[in-house]
Amino acid sequence: MDQFQGDLEKITGEGTLKRGEPMSRHTTFQIGGPAEFYLDVNTPAVLKKVLDIASRYRVPLFVFGGGSNILVGDQGIKGLTVRFHSEEFVLKGKTLRVAAGMGLAKIAMEMINRGLSTGLENLATVPGTVGGAIYNNSHWQDKLLGDFLLKAEIYTPRQEVKEVPADYFRFAYDYSILRDSGDIVLTALFPVGKGVKEEMLKAVIANNQTRSLSQPLDTKCAGCTFRNPSKEQPAGKLIEQCGLKGKIIGGAKVSQKHANFIINNGNASAFDVLKLIELCRREVRQKFGLDLKEEIFLVGEFAHD
Ligand SMILES: Cc1cc2nc3c(=O)[nH]c(=O)nc-3n(C[C@H](O)[C@H](O)[C@H](O)COP(=O)(O)OP(=O)(O)OC[C@H]3O[C@@H](n4cnc5c(N)ncnc54)[C@H](O)[C@@H]3O)c2cc1C
Repeated sequence: MDQFQGDLEKITGEGTLKRGEPMSRHTTFQIGGPAEFYLDVNTPAVLKKVLDIASRYRVPLFVFGGGSNILVGDQGIKGLTVRFHSEEFVLKGKTLRVAAGMGLAKIAMEMINRGLSTGLENLATVPGTVGGAIYNNSHWQDKLLGDFLLKAEIYTPRQEVKEVPADYFRFAYDYSILRDSGDIVLTALFPVGKGVKEEMLKAVIANNQTRSLSQPLDTKCAGCTFRNPSKEQPAGKLIEQCGLKGKIIGGAKVSQKHANFIINNGNASAFDVLKLIELCRREVRQKFGLDLKEEIFLVGEFAHD
């Protein structure tokens, strides 16, 4: 492993590879055990080289962005965990290319300030990065990431870098092909049109207000826990009708404000959250005969009873 560390640090700098880094420092849940090896990466070019090395050494790999849609197990993550956060941003003619590690809010504000629109201003209040948003086709109200993407540059499990059109991702509700393919997104390309700065800003502020009225934004959480079985049957309403609003297991709690949010109410373990997830699922199945599916992603190793 010393050779692995040496090769990585030739690219990222001496002392940059951490061992046993607590993932609770890097997730919005503030939950998660240690990453065996942990690296911060800030550009697509460096990310590509790091991925080459991980595959050369056959080290298991996990790449993430904002950490706003994951629950990391208390036993942590084996292999190399890479956090991709980047502000690489190239506006050229009628297109915008951004690093997949760039935050949605940051992109939206950069464009709004220039009086330009990519559509991402509709998703400005979704926490996290473009890469994370492509992975799950993140959405706000009826606008989905996949509505706006033109192309993306991906790194495939066969170590090829490819530019692929948006339809490669087979976007659907809470789905993109990345969930099955194992590709990593390096950069993303969006068409750019003119926008009216004041109107776009007004819409972002209104979205923020709507969100803060209905969601527990000041808590440690990872957004909605479950996918909505249908528009008519949102998961939060089903959980609420099971009388589970405010339910606590260990340090985890079903939010009083929005029952589809499980929050870290103090020192929750991933296992506490998992038990609460199971309880919600069981009660909803018993009462409504519906199987709730998680919208958050479980990553790494979880303890068992
Ligand atoms: C308060 C709050 C509100 C939220 N509201 C919404 C909402 O309205 N709508 C919504 O859809 N979501 C919402 N979320 C969930 C989350 O913010 C989004 O899903 C977001 O797009 C995730 O991005 P991320 O960078 O944080 O992803 P991460 O949590 O870092 O990663 C999520 C998944 O994406 C993968 N991934 C990340 N980057 C890449 C990459 N470059 N290439 C390949 N795979 C990658 C990871 O491996 C992981 O499997 C909310 C979360 C919070 C905390």
